[in-house]
Amino acid sequence: MSDTGPLIIVGTGLAGYNLAKEVRKLDDQRELILITADDGRFYSKPLLSTGFAKGKQADELAMQDAATMATQLNARVMAHTQVLKVDSQARTLHIQDGELPYGDLVLACGAHARPLPLGEETPDGVLSINDLGDYGRFRQALQGRKRVAIIGAGLIGSEFANDLALGGLEVQVIAPDEQLMPGLIPDQVAAPVQAALEELGVRFHLGRSVIAVHPDGSGLSLELDDGSRIEADQVLSAIGLVANTSLAQEAGLLCGRGIQVDRFLRTSDPHIYALGDCAEVEGMQLMYVMPLMGCARALARTLSNEPAEVSYPVMPVMVKTPACPLVVSPPVTSSKGLWTVTGEGQNMKALFHDADGVLHGYALTGSAVSEKLQLNRQLPAWLA
Ligand SMILES: Cc1cc2nc3c(=O)[nH]c(=O)nc-3n(C[C@H](O)[C@H](O)[C@H](O)COP(=O)(O)OP(=O)(O)OC[C@H]3O[C@@H](n4cnc5c(N)ncnc54)[C@H](O)[C@@H]3O)c2cc1C
Repeated sequence: MSDTGPLIIVGTGLAGYNLAKEVRKLDDQRELILITADDGRFYSKPLLSTGFAKGKQADELAMQDAATMATQLNARVMAHTQVLKVDSQARTLHIQDGELPYGDLVLACGAHARPLPLGEETPDGVLSINDLGDYGRFRQALQGRKRVAIIGAGLIGSEFANDLALGGLEVQVIAPDEQLMPGLIPDQVAAPVQAALEELGVRFHLGRSVIAVHPDGSGLSLELDDGSRIEADQVLSAIGLVANTSLAQEAGLLCGRGIQVDRFLRTSDPHIYALGDCAEVEGMQLMYVMPLMGCARALARTLSNEPAEVSYPVMPVMVKTPACPLVVSPPVTSSKGLWTVTGEGQNMKALFHDADGVLHGYALTGSAVSEKLQLNRQLPAWLA
């Protein structure tokens, strides 16, 4: 850490604000500035995929505004301010109105929705939801309309399918794989989740890709790769997130899928750190809340002159498909092994063992979810 100059955090998502809170627990003196391109409201992003069924407007999901956060954190929060460039030699940030010097810089700049590879301009009515503003725009666009086509059947697409169907909308899901959440859970576990969503009225078009979206009267017509068409009022694209690495790359920092950091959350520049969706910690890119909370606690200590390595305990993910409860502790990317699946109907239990019989992950649905705690005790830490 630096002895001089303010600590600047780029980003006021869960990573940026939680880091600021942790810093303030250890140091109430250091000048602290948070910069965000959005309006700086504090909200919990996981609530975006349960808000429709609860009838929540974007404003109702916001917990604090930027000014309140600034007061609470004894910090300056610069909202609606895009960081254009990081000059790591001069240790300054470039924004529209000038330059800001920093002592230490933390990049907590999140990720963006992967653009649809449609090869033509995406028409109005095709949106993604990755922040509170997106959620508000999507809700607004859906006013008085009913038919939603979701492109993508990963974790986020599946959660929105459940929530929008519960919210009374007509939902169709199109995805190229033959199962929900491929890569995360085995197909025997995906099947009861799909069946439960179908019970809610969701229609699936799996093994199919959208090749074009055409304006069609007041709605949209999605053209699939088998020549069929789906009519919708609104399209929700949920085909994944890409870490925001451009600021870091242009500053010459090492990047892979995310901004590469060591266990001290330090980038290849000793005065620049990264955490949250933008970061790749020791080669692991984990776009979930629990990892970023662990990173925030460790980094706050490092920035307060008590260097601390981050460690990751077992961090299962509760997938918000209440139609069929699902909890997953995915095997860490380096584990090699096989899934074995038992159970029937909605209650499936999948265990991922390596060649030596060591448990590295699980996926549980329905009543099998109750085995979560007992299985957690058998799993190795994600980053010991
Ligand atoms: C719908 C949905 C549901 C989810 N549900 C769960 C869940 O149930 N459980 C779970 O563990 N995880 C869940 N996640 C993932 C989790 O919410 C994210 O991992 C986490 O919120 C990421 O926080 P972040 O602060 O890293 O990024 P973000 O929240 O994306 O924040 C990025 C910040 O950086 C700012 N920024 C970016 N570039 C610039 C720039 N150049 N200049 C200035 N500011 C900039 C943005 O304005 C923003 O303030 C969900 C994600 C989504 C989308």
